[in-house]
Amino acid sequence: MNNLAVMYHYVRKQEGWRGIFPLSPQDFSYQIDELSKTYDIISLDQMDTPRSKPWCVLTFDDGTKDQYTNAFEILKRKGVPAYFTVMSGPAVSGVVPMVHLVHSVLSFVPDEEIWEQICLKHDTTGIEEASIIYAYEPKRLRRYNKYMLNVKLTTEEATEILGSLFESLFPNKHQFIHDFYLTEQEIKHMYREGMTIGIHGHDHLSYFGDAQQFYDREIQPCREYLNKVLGFRSDWYTPAFGGGVQHKEMKEQLTPILIANGFKGAFSTVPKEVPHDRGFWIDRIDCAKLFHAR
Ligand SMILES: [Zn+2]
Repeated sequence: MNNLAVMYHYVRKQEGWRGIFPLSPQDFSYQIDELSKTYDIISLDQMDTPRSKPWCVLTFDDGTKDQYTNAFEILKRKGVPAYFTVMSGPAVSGVVPMVHLVHSVLSFVPDEEIWEQICLKHDTTGIEEASIIYAYEPKRLRRYNKYMLNVKLTTEEATEILGSLFESLFPNKHQFIHDFYLTEQEIKHMYREGMTIGIHGHDHLSYFGDAQQFYDREIQPCREYLNKVLGFRSDWYTPAFGGGVQHKEMKEQLTPILIANGFKGAFSTVPKEVPHDRGFWIDRIDCAKLFHAR
């Protein structure tokens, strides 16, 4: 039987956040118990230790606060280790990445209002067919908005639409960052309790085709931030969006740079189990898909 890496994002109640698909703390707790029946849930540095049962690693992206208040609390109670990756942009530069601007604004601003703003400034021809990639969203305008903001518009154009809406929802950005992301104290606490802390990036950018530039802009600042917080170098990496549309190029071009900089491994979003002779890149199955399939 193969090993397994499971991918988690938000672990929280929905509580009005209509723009996200969280896993409830109860369901998270259930999943840990179920996984424990088949797998040894281990930390990353135990992956290459021979054992009788297949192993499983739990991975968390984005370093959001709910992972501390909910997931970490449950893991601690059960005595189970996990791997959390954080972003440095919010803490270091006071910038909320686009992905979380979209989540926040789509949670609290009616789709009609966002769509109206987009239509005022941008050509939306062909939106019905193009937005089919968001078929899982039942609301038509939600599909349209997501397509325009996440795919069609540039970061600058999307920020122009979302920036002012976000500011009216959360006038104090530093408070938002404090409430939405892990603080340095929380990262330290999680590490002290046996959690592995890794790098997710500085601004949550997709791979943009120049490996050294990408390393310098996205990975190195986050590594430096963690080095400052924890007092040592983190050697694990999980790229934002699994690298994005250029994820194959990313693996080819970025891997030698990661290895040269002492990284021990990195995690993809390719939904596969992990073979016994694992490579540098470790595939992951999303928790929702894993438990839906069972
Ligand atoms: Zn992410």
